[in-house]
Amino acid sequence: MMTTAPSNIVGFDKFSVEDVRQDFPCLDRIVNSNPLVYFDNAATKQKPRAVLDAMQMFYENHCANVHRSAHTLSNEATAMLEAAREKVRDFINADKQSEIIFTRGTTESINLVANSFGQGFLKPGDEIIISVMEHHSNFVPWQMLRDRMGLNLKMATIAPDGNLDLDHYESLFTEKTRLVALAHVSNSLGTVNDAKKLVQIAHQNGAKILLDGCQAVAHLPVDVKDLECDFYVFSAHKMFGPTGVGVLYGKEDLLDQMPPWQGGGEMIDQVTLEKTTYADLPHKFEAGTPPIAEIIGLGAAVEYLSQFDRVALHEYETYLRDMLIERLSNHPEMAIYGTANNKVSIISFNMGDIHSSDFASIVDKEGIAVRAGHHCNQPLMQHFNIPGMVRASLCFYNTEAEIDRFGQSLETVARLFS
Ligand code: PLP
Repeated sequence: MMTTAPSNIVGFDKFSVEDVRQDFPCLDRIVNSNPLVYFDNAATKQKPRAVLDAMQMFYENHCANVHRSAHTLSNEATAMLEAAREKVRDFINADKQSEIIFTRGTTESINLVANSFGQGFLKPGDEIIISVMEHHSNFVPWQMLRDRMGLNLKMATIAPDGNLDLDHYESLFTEKTRLVALAHVSNSLGTVNDAKKLVQIAHQNGAKILLDGCQAVAHLPVDVKDLECDFYVFSAHKMFGPTGVGVLYGKEDLLDQMPPWQGGGEMIDQVTLEKTTYADLPHKFEAGTPPIAEIIGLGAAVEYLSQFDRVALHEYETYLRDMLIERLSNHPEMAIYGTANNKVSIISFNMGDIHSSDFASIVDKEGIAVRAGHHCNQPLMQHFNIPGMVRASLCFYNTEAEIDRFGQSLETVARLFS
């Protein structure tokens, strides 16, 4: 097994794959009598021991509810949670902690904006722009809002290489366009959208923009101030943190004007029989007991990722991506979806007419985990006129040797179906 990234990679000496793998206990699993090859990283990343330890440390030593009591454990828990907020703020270079809202994940962050921005800023006849490459999380909430409020939902299309068609996107704006919601990185195609350009075009047309960074944060440095986006959303579990927690970043002046969308404890200032006044940001949007251990785990994930040279990680993942694409390309009946130059290590494909689920089941017998199906991208599948795809998604803890094993499995599948 390769121990360090090859020397032709920029920053190859900045990390050792073998050392990194030691951080992830689950990578040692034996699956169906073979060492696990985990190529389902776009679905969720494995968790480093630092994240597992941080969560356990909270439960073993500091377990209490936050923002409520005056006792020591509660103060410690609150300090740990707010320290995680500061780590996230710094990680995406937001201006203020008040701009970082903890949610249950990307899905809830988008639903929050749809409900709250929808209620506060939209009226019947207004227009929202999304695209055919959106995950259902960035699709269904807008359709629901459209139906509830009588809005018009417009769909930007993609070019054959999987890039967003910028001319088409730009042509969709009218004076009624209020909001744009687009993926920073596509979860099926891996395309890295030119987020700054998307933001510029939205703002030139007087619309606000939400970027779905769910597949971006683990692979690219994200700077919300540089992007100038109005909202940025992501899930902890896609960036080595736990499930059940995510982030909504929003510009403070916008969040301030938006009504709360869930009522309950934590989000109030005063409650009387007649009426309720609300807490300041960020708590106005954080009703109920938050996932405290998970937020602390997210803070640890941010710290874990931040210790690396992100450019070196990206270069290495790109190297593995190209290796895997080369193996796939050796097969004559291979269709690869998404060939944009700027693309993270997410590779989706179909091998002839072999059903994606059959492909995934066969390689699973050899210990290789890939995803099969529509990847919560049914509109994208309709665009390609296919029921599904196989998706291999890589991470910097994957190795050349694993790509070799995947290449051998391709031969197995080809033999079985020949
Ligand atoms: N957006 C994108 C681009 C995704 O890839 C995903 C999950 O795969 C989501 C949104 C939804 O994330 P979650 O299920 O963590 O809320």
